[in-house]
Amino acid sequence: MSTSRFNALDTILSREEVHAKAPAKTVSEFFGCNVFGDEAMKKHLTADTFKAVKAAITNGTKIDRNTADQVAAAMRSWASERGATHYSHWFQPLTGTTAEKHDSFFTLSPSGSVIEEFKGGSLVQQEPDASSFPNGGIRSTFEARGYTAWDPSSPAFIMESGNCLTLCIPTIFISYTGEALDYKAPLLKSQQYLEKAAVAVCQYFDKNVTHVATTLGWEQEYFLVDEALFNARQDLVLTGRTLLSRVPPKGQQLDDHYFGSIPDRVLQYMYDLEIECHKLAIPVRTRHNEVAPGQYELAPMFEEVNVAVDHNQLLMDVMDKVARRHRLRVLLHEKPFAGVNGSGKHNNWSMSTNTGKNLLSPGDTPRRNMQFLTFFVNTIKALHDHADLLRATVASASNDHRLGANEAPPAIVSAFIGDTLSALLDELETKDEKSFLEEGAKADLKLDIHKKIPDLMLDNTDRNRTSPFAFTGNKFEIRMVGSQQNCASPMTVMNTIVGAQLNAFHTEIDALIKSGMKKDTAILSVLKRLIKESKNIRFEGDGYSDEWKDEAKSRGLSNLPNTPDALTAFISQKSLDLFAKANVMTPIESEARYEIALHDYVKRLQIEGRVMADMCNLQILPPAIKYMNTLLENTKHLAKLGLPMEAQMGLITEINTHINGMRKATTEMTYQRKLANEITDTGEQAVAYCNKVKGDYFDIIREHADQLEALVDDTLWILPKYREMLFIR
Ligand code: ADP
Ligand code: MG
Repeated sequence: MSTSRFNALDTILSREEVHAKAPAKTVSEFFGCNVFGDEAMKKHLTADTFKAVKAAITNGTKIDRNTADQVAAAMRSWASERGATHYSHWFQPLTGTTAEKHDSFFTLSPSGSVIEEFKGGSLVQQEPDASSFPNGGIRSTFEARGYTAWDPSSPAFIMESGNCLTLCIPTIFISYTGEALDYKAPLLKSQQYLEKAAVAVCQYFDKNVTHVATTLGWEQEYFLVDEALFNARQDLVLTGRTLLSRVPPKGQQLDDHYFGSIPDRVLQYMYDLEIECHKLAIPVRTRHNEVAPGQYELAPMFEEVNVAVDHNQLLMDVMDKVARRHRLRVLLHEKPFAGVNGSGKHNNWSMSTNTGKNLLSPGDTPRRNMQFLTFFVNTIKALHDHADLLRATVASASNDHRLGANEAPPAIVSAFIGDTLSALLDELETKDEKSFLEEGAKADLKLDIHKKIPDLMLDNTDRNRTSPFAFTGNKFEIRMVGSQQNCASPMTVMNTIVGAQLNAFHTEIDALIKSGMKKDTAILSVLKRLIKESKNIRFEGDGYSDEWKDEAKSRGLSNLPNTPDALTAFISQKSLDLFAKANVMTPIESEARYEIALHDYVKRLQIEGRVMADMCNLQILPPAIKYMNTLLENTKHLAKLGLPMEAQMGLITEINTHINGMRKATTEMTYQRKLANEITDTGEQAVAYCNKVKGDYFDIIREHADQLEALVDDTLWILPKYREMLFIR
């Protein structure tokens, strides 16, 4: 028997129908067919033009106008062949989503004939009407111009929307005065900054290293719900999460969803989604059920950070489009349902060289291991020095429901590195570097971590899931990132803080060598100090425990569970200086980002407050009153018959208590919201929304509403319940 009061939509595409949409039988035959990548470029460009574009991608050299014209013409002919009629600069404004403005290839020639063209000028730069994108005060309204500029390092692609095919060109988005108005411009700068610093440090170990790229492998968690149920919940439609509703009697207690068999309807969705991803060269490989019922995850192979960020943004868009085809809705919000797990987006971060080496992978020679240790320890030191800044990049109204809310991971930033590496760092810290080197020369160098790899693997299989920043064998996994966030922001900070730390390291080592110290001794002695200085940030225990909160406090680590508090790290003098010195963001750009994030926070809580009041008044109260009337009617008859009516009277009293409690709290919350709206300083306004609106009322209102849900006749209840939404069959 169905537990739902709603009819499920039976529009599941069959596997055959989904499969029929794939352009070819095997992935290798159609992977990247919608991307203007190397293969398409080679086919459509002359050898010289191809070389010029490749040089721009790897070395950042400029593309001249003539080359741009040729690339544009080639892109158009490739895209037209595939059926695209329009082109669009595709960018990532600070709204968190992606933006496009389509222009047609078709135009009228001076003689009036219809032609199709796409010129270098239109490829390289566009001026979208930018006045309604957030700018944090950078652009005054009279100078609302913003420009998008082609980023050749991320390949152009064709976006399919039904029968409409559009050529999308990845771009950065900047103001008339050159300030970044998007996520990508600072990311690209941070990548260059880190590259320069990392290459210099690599020179101590390997002269062949001339390029270092940061790599990102994200893991995207999400929920799926039936479209009909989604549409019946204005909170899901308008805020992305359920503001009310009871946790079902069975949630995730039995752990039976995690890695469980995937329901057919969901599997068809995943399969369809993967086809779309592969056409776009998004290398998704894994899919599985997550912990909460209705929750899933997919992950790709890692890529260079710039492309990986674009692919994740593109993916989120495609996920939504494909879900609608299956009459499903994808929920990317960090906490769509109370009482079951929320969704994150782990960011696996590492650095790799042009010689094909992962700098965070312990190697098989002492030299490689010294290099590994250098990058490993410097990364931990960078985190130690700028933990608050990394925390700030993942602060949002929705991610607050995960971080610091008894859910993975905590709001306190710490690094988990496992037993083997902890022991090694402890040894290095206490031993003097000379004996380390001498011992090493005699026998197998102690630094020969290679021999310890089996232990390392052990650590990884049993790794600490509670840590926000975990070393997982050959990369750091940043687990604080929220499921709907753009990865660019945390990636920009990782690149910048590690770049700055590597620069400081390099300066110090050079000075020591100059003063006559041997290179290896210099490196070990500095690493030793860095290990000592950054020890505070290392934590191997349970990140959820109360003991950790106390210990973290005594270690002087911050615990910032709320967005308004967490965001302040963006505008600390230390962060402003760091970004400015690295040439990643000017203080004006940093301050603008802070302002935009605060605004976003306020707006989201404002909408949530409004929706909550609306739902209480229009969807919770009416069925509650109706049911109470039925009970009252019933007591009248019982009284006539002289029968007992404690049950009815008890229910009436309880329902009445919650109706009044809910109504009172909603009215007061609305009043506090109005007061908060009057505040002109965004920082203060955000704090008011955090404490006075959300903090003082949201939980109370929900408690009353959810109690009513537990008391009122199921058949009268208007809203889809958790038990109906969470279990897709
Ligand atoms: P899991 O975390 O599920 O055990 P893996 O450790 O195999 O799985 O990988 C998790 C994610 O880490 C994947 O998205 C993968 O692409 C990514 N990853 C693996 N190696 C690197 C690397 N060198 N740099 C960045 N990401 C990586
Ligand atoms: Mg993971």
